[in-house]
Amino acid sequence: MVLKNLLVSVRNFYKSPVTRIYPEHDTEMSDRFKGLQKLDKEACIGCGICANTCPNEAIRVVRARINKDSKKQRWFPEIDIGHCMFCGLCIDQCPKEALSSTKVCAKGIVTWQHEDLLCTPDILAREVVIVEDEEGEQ
Ligand code: SF4
Ligand code: SF4
Repeated sequence: MVLKNLLVSVRNFYKSPVTRIYPEHDTEMSDRFKGLQKLDKEACIGCGICANTCPNEAIRVVRARINKDSKKQRWFPEIDIGHCMFCGLCIDQCPKEALSSTKVCAKGIVTWQHEDLLCTPDILAREVVIVEDEEGEQ
C-alpha cells in the first residue's frame, strides 16, 4: 500500500499542476460567463423592469446622479450582489439594453461584510473605481 502511494507521488511529480494559485493567477472565463453587471446610465430609463424580473429580489430602483459630473438625479437600479445569482435575467429583460454582463467576478466584489456587496448605480456604471482585473475590465 505504501509503495503504491509512493509510486503515485513519483508519477505525479513531473506532471504540471492542475490547480492554480489564486489570486495571483486568474482562471480564464468563458465568453458566456456572467459576472458583475455594468450599467449604462445614459440608456437606462429607470423603468424598474430589471427589479421586477429579478427572481432573488436583488435589485431596487433608487435615485442617483445621472453622471459623475452632474448633480441632477434620476432612477437607476442598485444591485445587492450578495443576493444575486448572476442568472442574467435583468440583462435579458432590460428594454434599453442598459445592463450588460462583464467577467468581473471576484476582485473588487469579494468582501467580509454583506453591506459592502451593495452595488449602487455609480458602482454599476463604474463611476466608482472597483479593483480592476488584468484585462482592464471593471
Ligand atoms: S436597467 Fe433597464 S430594466 Fe433596469 S431600470 Fe434601467 S432601463 Fe429599466
Ligand atoms: S443576474 Fe439574476 S439574480 Fe442577479 S440581479 Fe439580475 S436578475 Fe437578479
